Amino acid sequence: MIKSPRGTRDLLPPDTALWNFVEATVRDVFRAYNFHEIRTPIFESTELFARGVGEETDIVSKEMFTWEDRGRGAISSSGSPPRSKSVSGADSRSGSFSGAGDSDRGQSLTLRPENTAGVVRAYIEHKLWDRGLNKLFYIGPQFRRERPQKGRYRQFYQIGAEVIGPAAAGSQSPARDAEILELLATLLDRVGITNWTLELNSVGCPADRAKFNEALRQALAPVVDKMCADCQRRAVTNPLRVFDCKVPADQPIIDTLPTISQFLDEDCRTHYEAVKDILNAVQIPYQENLRLVRGLDYYQKTAFEFTHGALGAQNAILGGGRYDGLSEDLGGPAAPGIGFAIGEDRLVLSLTASAESVVRKPDVYIAPLGAGMNREAARVARELRRHDLVVDLGDEAFRLKKSFEAADKMGARYILIVGENEVKANAFALKHLASGEQVTVPRGQLAERIVQK
Ligand code: AMP
Repeated sequence: MIKSPRGTRDLLPPDTALWNFVEATVRDVFRAYNFHEIRTPIFESTELFARGVGEETDIVSKEMFTWEDRGRGAISSSGSPPRSKSVSGADSRSGSFSGAGDSDRGQSLTLRPENTAGVVRAYIEHKLWDRGLNKLFYIGPQFRRERPQKGRYRQFYQIGAEVIGPAAAGSQSPARDAEILELLATLLDRVGITNWTLELNSVGCPADRAKFNEALRQALAPVVDKMCADCQRRAVTNPLRVFDCKVPADQPIIDTLPTISQFLDEDCRTHYEAVKDILNAVQIPYQENLRLVRGLDYYQKTAFEFTHGALGAQNAILGGGRYDGLSEDLGGPAAPGIGFAIGEDRLVLSLTASAESVVRKPDVYIAPLGAGMNREAARVARELRRHDLVVDLGDEAFRLKKSFEAADKMGARYILIVGENEVKANAFALKHLASGEQVTVPRGQLAERIVQK
């Protein structure tokens, strides 16, 4: 038997009804905040993530699905993916990410592990600064080669948003951070997730980060040889990433390290206070977490996560933060921005609503009775569906008992019998399945009768 690849899964009905409920609800919320949808490609050039997400992050250093394009649409089926080193060479500084056809030959491509880099690439490519402040959202699959477990998959789905634009359009304002956080609180409430915790921190600007990294280097020097191999590497290349470490034995050491809060400059401190001030005004509760640095390099100033107890080890439903320097890192103009990504898989896992409660069951099941009745049933079904009724159909080969069983099994409210006599009389037997009440209804009144509960 061929199974779906490790870390991927099929989403089947009725669960897909929950996913659709979540997506419809978040679309409503985004509309209320004047966000508009963006769809970027599922794969991008590898250098986008190497430069955008950061080479030293777990995502780029070990989790990407990367391949070398052969040009003319053929995908390499042999050889190992190029290491991230090979994407940081001289030509990765070109700042150009577009192009097609033969120029793609040998280009390293990667399934997107996250969507912010793609959105910022699109911002630059399409000069979206002309539109002032962009409030964009996306919903779609992301790919990371992680060890699969509950709530962690290799293909997973994110619902995310980005607010990005020139500083003159207000993109730098702490009001944007607060609006995003308030939107998220509303969104989680609307999909029915209670008991979330907003964890908040400021990770400072690059100058603060440089000072902090230096302090971390010094603090790590005497203890690093007791830490895991990843931390030993991080201590040299990017000490901040030590906070991503999940190795239990390293945690007591990490607890003794300095926190970024001690290194914030005046601008970052004021920004952070302003965000908290608005959150207090709109009564969004939060907890400060001074160790929260997020697993991506591009964050500056505000960083946050929403967690949910019911999720166990993988308890972060969503994460985000400000990335004021990302556009410039990718060769674009200064474009401050802030965004988040919700793990849709985890969001759905935390819902208390059941799939059954959001699925729309058939209003009526039509049972064609006897030869030649499929065509009559099809006509009636077509009429009823025009009235926005959910209609399902049996088959003229079914005995009536089989049709009743089918109608029951799918939870239809009514069963409608379409037999020769009914067609002649132009009136049909309609039975309410729960009460057993049966009436004969003229064709023209069927929809009206079924719409009434
Ligand atoms: P990140 O892009 O790492 O900030 O992740 C944002 C959110 O995406 C997390 O809070 C998770 O809810 C979700 N997420 C990240 N990686 C995975 C994964 N491998 N499987 C399922 N959800 C994930």
